[in-house]
Amino acid sequence: MKCNVVAVGTELLLGQIVDTNSSYIGEQLAATGIASHLQLKVGDNLERVVAAITLALQDADAVIICGGLGPTHDDLTRDALAQIMNVPLEHNEEVAEVIRELFAKRNRVMAANNMRQAQVPAGATVIPQTRGTAPGLICPVGNKVMYAVPGVPHEMYDMLARAVLPDLLQRSGEAAVIASRVLRTWGDSESGLNEKLDPIIEELEELQNPTLAFLASGWEGIKVRLTAKAPTQQEAHALLATWEQRVRDIVGTNVFGVDTDTMESVVLDLIAQRGWSFAVAESVTGGLVGGRITAVPGVSKTFRGGIISYASDVKYELLDVDLGPVVSEKAAIQMAIGAQEVLNADVALALTGVAGPDEQDGQPVGTLCIGVAFPDGSTASTTAMLPGQRDQMRQMSVITALSFLRGLLLNRPL
Ligand code: ATP
Ligand code: MG
Repeated sequence: MKCNVVAVGTELLLGQIVDTNSSYIGEQLAATGIASHLQLKVGDNLERVVAAITLALQDADAVIICGGLGPTHDDLTRDALAQIMNVPLEHNEEVAEVIRELFAKRNRVMAANNMRQAQVPAGATVIPQTRGTAPGLICPVGNKVMYAVPGVPHEMYDMLARAVLPDLLQRSGEAAVIASRVLRTWGDSESGLNEKLDPIIEELEELQNPTLAFLASGWEGIKVRLTAKAPTQQEAHALLATWEQRVRDIVGTNVFGVDTDTMESVVLDLIAQRGWSFAVAESVTGGLVGGRITAVPGVSKTFRGGIISYASDVKYELLDVDLGPVVSEKAAIQMAIGAQEVLNADVALALTGVAGPDEQDGQPVGTLCIGVAFPDGSTASTTAMLPGQRDQMRQMSVITALSFLRGLLLNRPL
């Protein structure tokens, strides 16, 4: 099974919009194990859209066309499909009704040209619209197939997952369910992780199912995505579970979460499991840690609050840090103890460091000192050297400090 991609829109050619849709579709096809050898971009011109689709279909079994399904006169995808199928466009009353309802629900007057979207090439199957107003189309042509999906990214993502990929898999005579799981890692570089996982990657390249991909996510570490195909959800999930374990056996606790987990949600869970409350004292990050922590739903049960002790005298007076250098592990620990007391929390995390542009207390830019205080009076600290400019250093500080705390919590019995 081979499926090519055509992105329709003059704005794509003019560079007014970056064609992220094709990249997304390409990524999804690869993850699904469907070959794709050609991606085209074409302007809003009927003749050229027809030519592009015809070319894309030449040496493939299927083509996905995104964009040009809207209601305006320059939305020509429907016309192009009908022309290639050599059939007329027909009014589809079901689609028309959904469009009318949508406008009624939003209390908006519908322009007459919106009914253009209810025009469907004879013989095509409609992919019902759940978000926007443009339905997608599945158009058989000979023993091949053309899929038309909207250009608006989130509408396209939805239809691709819901209708296009399952249909492609079914046609390829393969499994009909695709499931994926993202393992979130922190502590390995992309190349380091690649090297560690090399045996697994080789094995999976042979098997082709599941597939494994690395997704760099900047300050958030590296994601490892596994995508499995199987006849049923259950089998797909069993495959994922097997290979997730294989990855975990190698990467160990550097896998900090799955799917929507974040470092902060994982740390909060570990603290909540112990029935503890949590507080932070921040210097270099100026509230970034507290901001991330409070973005986690349900955090109020655990999080007491944070103190932005930016100026040295605030550290001395409010947190009872000893007079002297404030970028040190000793100061970080004292900040944590101070926050623990002032905010009446069980466990506290403190960050002090140098984000630049100038060095401080003889410590170079990029220095981060992390301190932790536990309810039993024990403390821990570490120093990290972080790369980058001020903003990057501060963002990296957040996840580095949370990761340090996570490691300590994992090593403490419940
Ligand atoms: P609509 O019903 O919204 O008109 P449509 O199918 O006609 O949908 P287009 O008009 O081609 O889609 O594009 C709508 C919007 O979607 C564009 O303005 C752009 O923001 C986005 N878009 C379109 N094509 C792409 C693409 N290839 N990559 C990223 N974004 C795109
Ligand atoms: Mg449009």
